[in-house]
Amino acid sequence: MYKINDNYLKLPGSYLFSTIGKKVAAYSAEHPEKKIIRLGIGDVTQPLAPAIIEALHKAVDEMGNAETFHGYAPDLGYEFLRNAIAKNDYQDRGAEISADEIFVSDGAKCDAGNIQEIFSTDNRIAVCDPVYPVYVDTNVMAGRTGTYDPKTETWSDVIYMPCTAENGFVPELPKETPDLIYLCFPNNPTGSTITKEQLQEWVDYANKVGAVIIYDAAYEAYISEKNVPHTIYECEGARTCAIELKSFSKNAGFTGVRLGYTVIPKELKCGDVSLHALWARRHGTKYNGAPYIVQRAGEAVYSPEGKAQLKEQVAYYMNNAKTILEGLKEAGYTVSGGVNAPYIWLKTPDKMNSWEFFDYLLEQAGVVGTPGSGFGPSGEGYFRLTAFGSYENTAAALERIKKL
Ligand SMILES: *Cc1c(COP(=O)(O)O)cnc(C)c1O
Repeated sequence: MYKINDNYLKLPGSYLFSTIGKKVAAYSAEHPEKKIIRLGIGDVTQPLAPAIIEALHKAVDEMGNAETFHGYAPDLGYEFLRNAIAKNDYQDRGAEISADEIFVSDGAKCDAGNIQEIFSTDNRIAVCDPVYPVYVDTNVMAGRTGTYDPKTETWSDVIYMPCTAENGFVPELPKETPDLIYLCFPNNPTGSTITKEQLQEWVDYANKVGAVIIYDAAYEAYISEKNVPHTIYECEGARTCAIELKSFSKNAGFTGVRLGYTVIPKELKCGDVSLHALWARRHGTKYNGAPYIVQRAGEAVYSPEGKAQLKEQVAYYMNNAKTILEGLKEAGYTVSGGVNAPYIWLKTPDKMNSWEFFDYLLEQAGVVGTPGSGFGPSGEGYFRLTAFGSYENTAAALERIKKL
């Protein structure tokens, strides 16, 4: 008789977005005349840039010719793309990463979920609290997280590192020693970021205690301030303790196209076992490769036209972020984020909890956001708004909020 992986049964279910959906549907049914504005979207809305569309068309045509047809992609990804990544995202920034340390994939979510497979189930993980739920959920599926306490909404074997107003939403080094440390900066959901000096402390710590940092830099393109690192490999010693995850989703609109990559430096070793070799072994067996067409589209992200067009797209979203940030400040809210990330994190007023504020905003203003408590216990009393909507809707939502 077969058995299932019963770790899956421990997962509390995706309560957050289904509850939001139900509440919004109920409100719409009661108020069909009210136009609801969604500032809770975690997905981009701008179309793919012309340079990317052009590259896609060209690659599609190549697939229709015997001479230029491409079948299975190489395990690590095509060299043209890995070279462009190594040069633009690393070497031009003074970070010493070479093309053969880059593994092209179909997105950072998959890599963030799958990377734990190369580590023992005995490892203890540490996560920012609040954070993108994929890190904890995939470790639950692997059986690494212990038991769930529905009261505190925490797992017994996970080290939660609170990100609060007091620490500027950057966690302090944990008291218990973790083996795997998930860091995400610029952060989803808080929009906060980390300085190069702060990140260096984490790198030094990981090297000292023998931990690996899994650094999710999905929002790197939104960084606008000088002292914010674009990659963990700007820090000294990161090559022996850090894996970096990147995505083409939020900087180039690839959420429906699917493309990302993972960096594992050759020096990253557990004893004498190379993590690069383990991930390469996994890639060769369990991964189909991102399509040739999509990798050509990724290459176009680094062309001069692509760079200029995507800079404009990011600027469009960041103008929304500024509109939200300034509007909320004017309305008297305590806000953070929104400067190096498309997320604005606000403290709920009048001691409302996150869900009470969700209801208040929906009922009084017809605006939908995301309760902070859905991203971890330290998110309680906070609320996330995103800059991915249209400017018109964003500005209209803020006018409504200012009138409350
Ligand atoms: C959106 C997001 C991703 C997802 O990336 P994909 O490449 O679309 O899979 C990864 N990490 C964080 C923190 C995100 O918010």
